[in-house]
Amino acid sequence: MANFGHVYLIGAGPGDPGLLTLRGKDILEKADVVVYDRLVSPAILGFCNPKAKMVDVGKMPTHHKVKQSEINKLLVQFAKEYPQGVIARLKGGDPFVFGRGGEEALELVAAGVEFDVVPGITSAISVPAYAGIPVSHRGIATSFHIITGHEKEVDSRKSEVGSDSVILSEVRSTKSKDPSQNLSLDFENLAKCPGTLIFLMGIANMDFIAKRLIECGKDPKTPLAFIEKGTTPYQRTVMATLETAGETIVREKVTAPAITIMGGVVELGQALAWKKNLPLSGKRLVVTRAAKQASGITARLSALGAEVIETPMIETRVVEGSFNWADLANFDILAFTSTNGVESFFKQLFAAGYDVRVLAGKKIASVGKITEKKLLEYGIRCDYVPEDHTGEGLGKLLAALNPIPQSTEGATSHLTPRILLLQGNLADDTLLKLLPQATRWVVYETLPVAELPEWKREAVAGADAVVFASTSAVENFVKLMSQGTAGVPPYLKATNGSAPIPQTSFCIGRMTESAARKHGFNTVTSDETTMDSLVKKIVEFYTKNS
Ligand code: SAH
Repeated sequence: MANFGHVYLIGAGPGDPGLLTLRGKDILEKADVVVYDRLVSPAILGFCNPKAKMVDVGKMPTHHKVKQSEINKLLVQFAKEYPQGVIARLKGGDPFVFGRGGEEALELVAAGVEFDVVPGITSAISVPAYAGIPVSHRGIATSFHIITGHEKEVDSRKSEVGSDSVILSEVRSTKSKDPSQNLSLDFENLAKCPGTLIFLMGIANMDFIAKRLIECGKDPKTPLAFIEKGTTPYQRTVMATLETAGETIVREKVTAPAITIMGGVVELGQALAWKKNLPLSGKRLVVTRAAKQASGITARLSALGAEVIETPMIETRVVEGSFNWADLANFDILAFTSTNGVESFFKQLFAAGYDVRVLAGKKIASVGKITEKKLLEYGIRCDYVPEDHTGEGLGKLLAALNPIPQSTEGATSHLTPRILLLQGNLADDTLLKLLPQATRWVVYETLPVAELPEWKREAVAGADAVVFASTSAVENFVKLMSQGTAGVPPYLKATNGSAPIPQTSFCIGRMTESAARKHGFNTVTSDETTMDSLVKKIVEFYTKNS
C-alpha cells in the first residue's frame, strides 16, 4: 500500500455536540486535516486538534461552495500530502445516509487510499426523537422509510468504478428551474406505504411531494411535523397535515435544515415532547475567558439552553528549554502557585529526559487545594499548603520555616531553605517579596491569542452576544475580529460605514463595561464581580427581551 495518509469518514451527528461518537471525537483530536460540512456545529469543530488544517467545504442551500467531485479529489490529495497523516472527513449526521460518503469512499478506493467509516447518529431518527416522536411505535408504525426530498440524477453510465478515477457526474435531468422536476420518487408506492415517512432535504419540494402523495391516495389528514435545526438550541417543531404542508411551510417560514416526518407517530410528539424550552434556548453566546476558567460558565450557560462558543482571548504556553535542570539539586523546596505551573514544569522535566525521582527528598509547597490536587496526579504529595490558599499565605508559611528542612541532595544544611518558585510570567511579586532568598523560574507564559481560525470567526460573527470578564479581553476580541481576509466581520460592521453596529455584551466589572461601550457594544453588567451574578443577569436580560 502506498505511503498515504488514512482517511476517516466521520459522522458528526445531527447538531448536539454530545451526539458525536467517542471514536469520532478521538480521531478529531488527533487529525492533521479536517474537511467539514456546513451542518457541523462549531462546538464539534472545537474538539479538533488545534493544529489541524481546517477545510470548509460546506454547501449552502443555494450554491455549492465546493463541488462534490472536488471534495472527492481533495481527500485523495490530502492523503497524498500527509503520508501517515490522519485526514478526518466530517459530515453531518451519518456519512452514508444521504451524505455522499459512498461517493467519497469510491474515489478513495480507486486511488488506493485506506479509509475507515465512523458512523454518526443520523438526523432522520434523532431529530424526531428530540421532538418526542418515535419513528416506530407498536400499533402505529411497524416500519419507517427515509427518503430524500431533493434529488439530483446521477448518470451511472458515466461511472467507472475500479479504474483510476471514479466519475460520478451530476446531471440535472431537465432545464426546469423547479427543483421538484428532478424528483424521481415512486409516489405511488410511497403513498401506499403504511410506515412512517421521513424526508430529508425536502422543504423546498414539500408542497409538490405532499400533493403527489395525496393524488396517489395517501390520506390528506395524515399528521406531519417539520423539525427545524433539530437537537440544537434552535430546534423548532411545526405541526401540520399532508394537505396543509405547503401553506404551513410558507406561513411558519420553515427553513433548512429541517426534516419532515409523516404518519401516526407524529401525534405522540404532543405527549412526549421532552425537550424543554430553556431561558437561553436559541441564543449563541461567545465566552472569551481562558479555556480553563471558561468551562464552568460554559457548562452553566449550556445547561440554560444556550449554544456557547468558547473563544479564549489568552493562551498559556510552556516556556521551553530555558532551564538548567542540574540546578534543581540546589533547592530544598519547590513551590507551585498554579496548575499551569505544575503541568508546564513536569512537561519540560520529562521532555528533558528526567522523571519525578529528581524531586526525591525535596519539600513541595502549593498555594492551594487545586494545585495540590494537580501535583497528586504526578504522584507528588504537598508538604506545605497555606490555610488561606493565597500567595501571601504561602509566602508567610515558607518564610516561617526556619531552620530549614534538611536537603538530602548534599550533606550541607542551610540556615534558610533554598526555595524555587515555579510560576507564570504574569505572577505578581508577592512571593518574591516575602521570600527574598527564593529563585523564580518562569515555566509558562500567558499571551494574548494572536489569531482566530476562520471557522471560529464565522461562528462568533453569528452570535447573539459576547461575555467579557476583562478590558484586555474586549480589546483583543475587537482586534481579532477585525483582522484577516474577511476584514471587519458583519458582527461589527457598520450599516453606514462608520460606527460598528452595537451588539450585546455581558460584562463583569465597570472597567470591562466601559471598554466594551467604547467599541460600540451594548452592555449589560453584572451587579457583582462573580460569574453567578453574571449568569443571573444574562437570564434576566433574555427573559425580559423575549
Ligand atoms: N447525513 C445526514 C443527512 C444529510 S442530508 C444525516 O444522516 O443526518 C441534509 C439533510 O439532513 C437536511 O436537509 C435536513 O433534512 C437533514 N438534517 C440534518 N441535520 C438536521 C437537523 N439538525 N435538524 C433537522 N434536519 C436535519
